[in-house]
Amino acid sequence: MNMIMLGPPGSGKGTQSVILAERLGLRTISTGAIFRKNIAEGTELGRLAKSYIDEGKLVPDEVTVGLLKDSVKGLDGIILDGFPRTVAQAEALADFLDIDCVLYLDVDYDEVVNRLSGRRECAVCGSPTHVSMGNKVCQKCGGELIQRADDKEEVIRKRFVEYEKATKPLVDYYEKKGKLITLLARGSVEEITEKILGELKR
Ligand code: AMP
Repeated sequence: MNMIMLGPPGSGKGTQSVILAERLGLRTISTGAIFRKNIAEGTELGRLAKSYIDEGKLVPDEVTVGLLKDSVKGLDGIILDGFPRTVAQAEALADFLDIDCVLYLDVDYDEVVNRLSGRRECAVCGSPTHVSMGNKVCQKCGGELIQRADDKEEVIRKRFVEYEKATKPLVDYYEKKGKLITLLARGSVEEITEKILGELKR
């Protein structure tokens, strides 16, 4: 089974992808995480991606589609986190990967801002957490917890504008294909995971 996680910034796509991958025996591929790894390693791709990400903009489709295509080659049983983010990316994806369902995590704007501003991730393994959990270091590997550069308030606002303009049309796109499962992503991480698993069983 191949699945897409869709939703605005801070809807919990990354957190739920990691949990669902473990629970369902799937593999998560996050284009954002690949970009951040390349930025940390100082690669050419990282430098290019950083110039867009720091501005709250999307990395151009040519770059992102090529990267994703290489990452999923020969694989099955994937959860895509953060891809596709434009209709052009979705159309390109249809040529090289069969998608069974698209989970759309719908959230309130206020909840999202709270999640994003309190979000932290491990500098070593990338595991996500939130200040409300009260952790001082990563619970998986003991690494330092840091705030993503694009979780600063002015960048968050720009990411929302990009989401509304470029990514939200994908809700309609996958609805028309009969692949969309919409979930109101309200409540604790565990409650949302259980809701998703319940929907997937149906
Ligand atoms: P994420 O970790 O999914 O929130 O992604 C962080 C940032 O990476 C986004 O705000 C974009 O700038 C960039 N990015 C990640 N995935 C894509 C994509 N599929 N298309 C374009 N830009 C992307």
